[in-house]
Amino acid sequence: MKNGSAAPHPAADIGTPKTHSATAKLHALNPDIIITPHTHQVTAETLTSLLTDYDYDFAIDATDSHQSRQLINRAAHATQTPYIFAGVHRLTGMAMTILPYHTACYDCAFGHHNKCDFAAHATENTENIKNAENVKSIEIVKPTDTGPLDGTSILNAATGLNALGATPGILGVTSGLLGTLQAAEAIKYLLGHGDLLTNRLLTINLATMTFRHLTVRRHPQCPTCRSR
Ligand SMILES: [Zn+2]
Repeated sequence: MKNGSAAPHPAADIGTPKTHSATAKLHALNPDIIITPHTHQVTAETLTSLLTDYDYDFAIDATDSHQSRQLINRAAHATQTPYIFAGVHRLTGMAMTILPYHTACYDCAFGHHNKCDFAAHATENTENIKNAENVKSIEIVKPTDTGPLDGTSILNAATGLNALGATPGILGVTSGLLGTLQAAEAIKYLLGHGDLLTNRLLTINLATMTFRHLTVRRHPQCPTCRSR
């Protein structure tokens, strides 16, 4: 990705691949770590090849579209790579850890669609989310392309309003929080410590400081994980 709206990306680096700026930033923090950046278009082929060739222990989905998430979900199952996805919009976000063929997957909750419309998926698939404490309280996460954050877009992000004609977007602290949660899950998985965010969807609304868990079960007709 080359945009700088959702993920932490210094203004000076906008227009360059995030893999480049992330590598430079992480090396500045710790020059001893080994980083292998891969800059590719997200396709089923590139994802499966990447996860197969490098045999990663855990993956973090930091993409911002339903289609990319579905591709990552299916590649993770093809290679049996544990991972966590997260989505953000305005001041809301959601995340879930997925252990392929062992826990509910992204398609169990949001699958069965081809459109890149997270809101519709979340709404139409609420029947797939069983035992939810309050399904109606799900914060709909609908990623949109936002452009750089300025005063107007921050206002829109904070209020959800679009009165000024700007596209509602993502507040940086929202993606920062979800990214930190993803990192925590990765560390916990690698250490074998704690309870992972599996079979439950974490939804966050920073406007109301509401954090919820919704139980998600493997769907018997899931196009991705029903085969086992
Ligand atoms: Zn599934």
